[in-house]
Amino acid sequence: MKLILIFSALFGASLCLETFVGHQVLRIKTRNEEELKQLQLLESLEHLELDFWISPSTPAFPVDVRIPANNVQAVKAFLESCGIEYSILIEDLQVVLDKEKQDMACSQPRDRSRSSFNYGTYNSLDSIYAELDYLASEYSSIVRKLQIGESYEKRPLYVLKFSTGGSDRPAIWLDAGIHSREWVTQASAIWIAKKVTSAGIDYFLYLENTSDYLKVYHTCMFANPDGYVFTHTTNRMWRKTRSKNQGSLCVGVDPNRNWDAGFGGPGASNNPCSDSYHGPSANSEVEVKSIVNFIKNHGNIQAFLTLHSYSQLLMYPYGYKCTQPADHAELDALGRAAASCIQSLYGTTFTVGSICTTIYQASGGSIDWSYDYGIKYSFAFELRDTGRYGFLLPANQIIPTAEETWLGLKKIMEHVRDHPY
Ligand SMILES: [Zn+2]
Repeated sequence: MKLILIFSALFGASLCLETFVGHQVLRIKTRNEEELKQLQLLESLEHLELDFWISPSTPAFPVDVRIPANNVQAVKAFLESCGIEYSILIEDLQVVLDKEKQDMACSQPRDRSRSSFNYGTYNSLDSIYAELDYLASEYSSIVRKLQIGESYEKRPLYVLKFSTGGSDRPAIWLDAGIHSREWVTQASAIWIAKKVTSAGIDYFLYLENTSDYLKVYHTCMFANPDGYVFTHTTNRMWRKTRSKNQGSLCVGVDPNRNWDAGFGGPGASNNPCSDSYHGPSANSEVEVKSIVNFIKNHGNIQAFLTLHSYSQLLMYPYGYKCTQPADHAELDALGRAAASCIQSLYGTTFTVGSICTTIYQASGGSIDWSYDYGIKYSFAFELRDTGRYGFLLPANQIIPTAEETWLGLKKIMEHVRDHPY
């Protein structure tokens, strides 16, 4: 009897959401290469179970790290003994998570009829997938829902295709949520889809009619649906896919280290337990492979845009190497123009540059692959904020974030329209 009770208690616990009571998020500022090396050493100590929200890269760039409750004192003591400066970004992560959960519960629409989707809250995968259906049926003249594949756990991978007709027209690609815990990206993408279909329809037609060039706009809200569901059911801090790794108990691959661009190089880990594990081979993740196949089969994607959070950055290639791309001058100027459009609305400032010079060398990233594949306008956005809440951006910032992001995207879309290649 006792055994059965213990078993059921364990089983019950495994279905529960992981808690983060007493976990702290520290911001660490290094002043020189020596201090940076100390942090990289800290990063390599697996037993501390540190979750680097921003990894150590250069002394100029702050490092954000989540520390489990029972290691907080040890890490602080280590930093203090090395004379490294830090501050506490989040005192107790669970308090912020509880608030997020409470906000979500309060934001559930009472009227469950259609058109009650709440764009100002974080929604489940099911409700967002239902909203995709709604958009596709309500605006059927310009929106179609396509399935481009299936995730590892057999969830459909959907793309919304915005088009007024014709086939094989030049197109723009936008994806969000490849890193599942970056919730503001999925929420912004669905808001942007709604913007394009309803209030933005005039704008969309304007893009098409003025040049007869840009005909199609694709958006993929959930590049990593398994991870997203896992952040809702089990671990809010999950970043990777949910695929099993041979020979390891650790699950998942970092889908933004899995593209065929400098695969396995610097800035990716070969340890399956790492949050930046690159996977056994390029495109090993079916989610990545499905997008690659779609883009290749389409054959006429002119811009590849991807949404991440957080840090407020707008980046172009390269990440796997630190040399400038051939189109550096144009990409940099366009990035700066888009950043000033973003800033014009609420004053949110974005830093612009290549991945390598802006954050750190990181191999196997999507925009490096798309650029090398020939898609000149390849950009990665890191949306709000700069670390006050990090991945746990309060829901009341979703719509402002989406609105300002849309202005940046629009700037890039217009440039693409005016500069066929
Ligand atoms: Zn990301």
